[in-house]
Amino acid sequence: MAKAKILLVEDSKAQAGLVRDFLEKNGYEVIWAENGKAAIKTAKTMSVDIILMDLMLPDISGNEVCRWLKLDEHTRGIPIIMLTAKDAITDKVAGLEAGADDYLPKPYNEIELNARIYASLRTKALQDELRQKNRQLEDLLKQVEIMAITDQLTGIYNRRRLITILEKEFRRTKRYGISLTCMMIDIDHFKRINDKFGHQIGDAVIKETAGIIAENAREIDTVARWGGEEFIVLLPQTKKEDALQPAARILNTISEHKFPDIPDERITASIGIADASAPSIDTEEKLIHASDMALYDAKKRGRNRTELAP
Ligand code: GH3
Ligand code: MG
Ligand code: MG
Ligand code: MG
Repeated sequence: MAKAKILLVEDSKAQAGLVRDFLEKNGYEVIWAENGKAAIKTAKTMSVDIILMDLMLPDISGNEVCRWLKLDEHTRGIPIIMLTAKDAITDKVAGLEAGADDYLPKPYNEIELNARIYASLRTKALQDELRQKNRQLEDLLKQVEIMAITDQLTGIYNRRRLITILEKEFRRTKRYGISLTCMMIDIDHFKRINDKFGHQIGDAVIKETAGIIAENAREIDTVARWGGEEFIVLLPQTKKEDALQPAARILNTISEHKFPDIPDERITASIGIADASAPSIDTEEKLIHASDMALYDAKKRGRNRTELAP
């Protein structure tokens, strides 16, 4: 095991030498700083496990150094034991208020010093462990949150997330009279792809198509898998007519795309577009339904095309 590193802040060279000898004899590695500035610099640049801090220093008082170190997130976790020459209660209180973890009045007993160092190191180890566990837990929680809103196959948002965002956007749209467009996209004759190449390749085509749609969306748009081989793009602050151009771009890109699993096939899709401007579209469901109807129209009129809701 690596030796615990102690930063000894002590302006008296004689005193520092004595303590250093004792600490080294007890198996610690000692770094000596003879003033407050050197102490702060060392604590920030070297990874020390514990700090023994003399209260009376030539430049900045030990309490002040302590306060600085406890304010800095990189040094905050290092336990500090204040060594006070005076046994005055005000000094102790000031030290503890500055964030010191423990104090020891001079002259101190070496056995007691050793015991205090050991106790502080043990506390620090426990705190480090706890912090690490917390971090792991937070990471796990983030992963779970992401999984709950992500479609597993395509990596884009799932239906649940789309509904949450749609609710918020729809409310904003109606409240401020701005526009919101819903684009529903469905791959043409997809059953044939499944029948001809199998479900697994069908999945790969769905995934690749999702990527194309996402690449053609703006930062503020929401792209989600609505189900099977159907996708929805929500375009805030966009009228349905203004969605024709991005829709055409999506259809072109899909129809020109060479899907690696089915190099000799061409895939097309159809799009239905509706916006929330009509007073009759007074719920999110009606907006989705209107885009679905427009999509149905696009299918009826020959596919690989976009239709606008009336
Ligand atoms: P249309 O042009 O009218 O849309 O014809 P279509 O064959 O695409 O018909 P439809 O959209 O009604 O059917 C989609 C098919 O997609 C039905 C289903 O077998 C298949 N499908 C749905 N979800 C998945 C999936 O997750 N993976 C795969 N591989 N196929 C799926
Ligand atoms: Mg001193
Ligand atoms: Mg289809
Ligand atoms: Mg479909």
